[in-house]
Amino acid sequence: MRSGFRVWPNVRQFSFKKGLLYGFMHFFSTPLKSLRSTASRSLRVGRFCSVVNMSSSLQIELVPCLRDNYAYLLHDVDTGTVGVVDPSEAVPIIDALSRKNRNLTYILNTHHHHDHTGGNSELKARYGAKVIGSGSDKERIPGIDIYLNDGDKWMFAGHEVHILDTPGHTRGHISFYFPGSGKIFTGDTLFSLSCGKLFEGSPKQVDLSCISFRFVYGFEMLSSLRKIASLPDDTSIYCGHEYTLSNSKFALSIEPGNKELQSYASHVAYLRSKGLPTIPTTLKMEKACNPFLRTSSAEIRQSLNIADTADDAKALGVIRQAKDDF
Ligand SMILES: [Zn+2]
Repeated sequence: MRSGFRVWPNVRQFSFKKGLLYGFMHFFSTPLKSLRSTASRSLRVGRFCSVVNMSSSLQIELVPCLRDNYAYLLHDVDTGTVGVVDPSEAVPIIDALSRKNRNLTYILNTHHHHDHTGGNSELKARYGAKVIGSGSDKERIPGIDIYLNDGDKWMFAGHEVHILDTPGHTRGHISFYFPGSGKIFTGDTLFSLSCGKLFEGSPKQVDLSCISFRFVYGFEMLSSLRKIASLPDDTSIYCGHEYTLSNSKFALSIEPGNKELQSYASHVAYLRSKGLPTIPTTLKMEKACNPFLRTSSAEIRQSLNIADTADDAKALGVIRQAKDDF
């Protein structure tokens, strides 16, 4: 990742800047990140991200919610504008805002599931925040005020946000991409080392006569994952859940010879043993290790008896089924 950050109980915060200066100012030092544990010990963890020194105007704070959800507070330092991505419940968000005496201007929802929108109504009533979500799913997003669709550009306090339609988990799922700082909030589409379950899909893109629903859903998820995978490799991924450790066990079971995966899985196990988050991850890491971005891997196909001739959507459907059964 491009910036220094701190970790303390239940909250991770770091900063990045907006605008064109970003492209000139960022650089990659020796990959390294410094983590401060709950006991205030400094830890050094190598190889998994890089550090950049730069001034900042936007901060991200990770707020654990429910059992394994993450909400993310976005704070623009210049204007004091604050947004929250996927508040599954209100209290942890209110606590985090109260600690810094901040208001809430926007609520951004990736999709309608209760564990991503459960805090909408209370936060909207308390702060008067505007709720932002998918135009194609507006009837299912509680309190929605601003509808956005694929390809739309929206401004968060001067930071450009691109809306990517990323269906497959739900039909109205969107992701929020901040190109100026290389961050994307992927909700339940792309996790570290996995993707969301295929709950909903639209059959319109394929001929149903010769393909099962699961593979139709696989088709949509594949297309969504490819959209995200087309972003720059150093894009930081902020997903909706801390599932990485259990995901790593499945990933290793179907691609045990992947050395980068072995190394990342060890790192993840270490972080979790210290109670630290594994998020954000990077697109580069996910491309190297996430089986759902590796549907053409010979080892994965061999492990799951997927024919060489099977297309990537079919392979994704098989991998997803194996993960569901794992
Ligand atoms: Zn969901």
